[in-house]
Amino acid sequence: MTDTSALYQEVILDHNRRPRNFSVMADATVEERGVNPLCGDELTLYLRMDGDRIADASFQGSGCAISRASASMMTSLVKGKTRAEADVLVEQFRGLATGRTAMDDLPPALRAFAGVARLPQRVKCAVLAWHTLHSALAEGAGGAEGAER
Ligand code: ZN
Repeated sequence: MTDTSALYQEVILDHNRRPRNFSVMADATVEERGVNPLCGDELTLYLRMDGDRIADASFQGSGCAISRASASMMTSLVKGKTRAEADVLVEQFRGLATGRTAMDDLPPALRAFAGVARLPQRVKCAVLAWHTLHSALAEGAGGAEGAER
């Protein structure tokens, strides 16, 4: 049970119990749905973009503790970030979940998910919100790539 205890750290439990930004955003500029059929996790991510910056982020959906805590933490972390900064976080989290990113390179809040890398069937739960964010950002660019000031 060591994997489980490492995985379900206090911070993850807390985010699962009281998910941050767990609401429908009425004035979202980007809405993206993500599904992880392996576990049955599903979520809708809402972003309000202010130019190149994520002014606000929230999510709704149902899923396991890992997917919910990950979405809660993700939406908290990316608020106020630019598209490029958010993309860096996406890459860092993917690296973390697959054991490729060094702990020292990660924002402290994400380190709680390090244990997921040792539970292959949970990796998809953890990265769902981040994959969805990645899609949302690509979509929100609206093909105007390279056109920002
Ligand atoms: Zn799951």
